[in-house]
Amino acid sequence: MTKRRLISKAARTALVLLVVLLAASIFSFSCTLAPSPPARPGDWGDSGKPPAGKQPELKAFFIDVGQGDSCLIIARTGDDREFTLLVDAGPGGAADEVVDFLKEVGVRKIDHLVFTHPHEDHIGGGKALLEAFEVGKVYMPRTTHTTEAYEELLLAIRSKGLTVTEARAGKVILEAKEFKAEFLGPAKSYEDLNDRSAVICVTFGERVLLFMGDAEAQAEDDMLQAGLIPDADVLKVGHHGSSSSTTGEFIRVSRPSIAVISVGPNPYGHPSKTVLDRLERAGVRVYRTDLHGTVEIVIRGDRLDVSTR
Ligand SMILES: [Zn+2]
Repeated sequence: MTKRRLISKAARTALVLLVVLLAASIFSFSCTLAPSPPARPGDWGDSGKPPAGKQPELKAFFIDVGQGDSCLIIARTGDDREFTLLVDAGPGGAADEVVDFLKEVGVRKIDHLVFTHPHEDHIGGGKALLEAFEVGKVYMPRTTHTTEAYEELLLAIRSKGLTVTEARAGKVILEAKEFKAEFLGPAKSYEDLNDRSAVICVTFGERVLLFMGDAEAQAEDDMLQAGLIPDADVLKVGHHGSSSSTTGEFIRVSRPSIAVISVGPNPYGHPSKTVLDRLERAGVRVYRTDLHGTVEIVIRGDRLDVSTR
């Protein structure tokens, strides 16, 4: 073994140790699957209460971050409360775009920030977001991962004085009148980081939106077997449209009318023709951030409108 390889091995060991210690210091994981406590008033956004009588509204933005994921939800619920939920931060290369986009649509505080899993295309923009915005709560699935991007994220979370709440099936993020955001996954523990993705179900009145992270067929199957997958209106397709996700059975049960694929130029062949064909055969309207740019869905009363920008 050369001296250089010895040094890089030592550096790698140091990184592993540092990340493990960091994670231990900021993850506030509970060991049991006890029911989640109800949302407290402090969990809500304090960015100003809208005038009474304003119509409930949910906006979901599937931000064009190139190859990666970042979805912003801004909701005004039936009991006149407002909050923001951000699912993933996109890759580091798109960090400035995500920060600018959030500012452009008026976000001042990210009330709930979920990192579905520790791959760079989902967490790379996290540090910049944590530096640019006040953040309420941070959620991640329980994982061990030892990349520099993950270390940087954990350091940024710690330097904000925040801890991490475990994302796992059954945990409720927020519940309000005609609104609920909860985790459907991970339903089990997996070796594979994609399958360990936090999967989120947002219910708004009669409408249901599913955010799959990079969950693949095994995780989908486990959620189906557990009866966790509801009829959905909107599906943020798992793993950028990879053929390893979005099985025929998953589409048959979730029955989305709209699917959004967050994807950019990539060497992996995302989105796969198999998945696109499957969605088409099921009559699902597909939007892709690489073709349409940022996709915006607005739900008000019975209306659900899709636009692109
Ligand atoms: Zn990904």
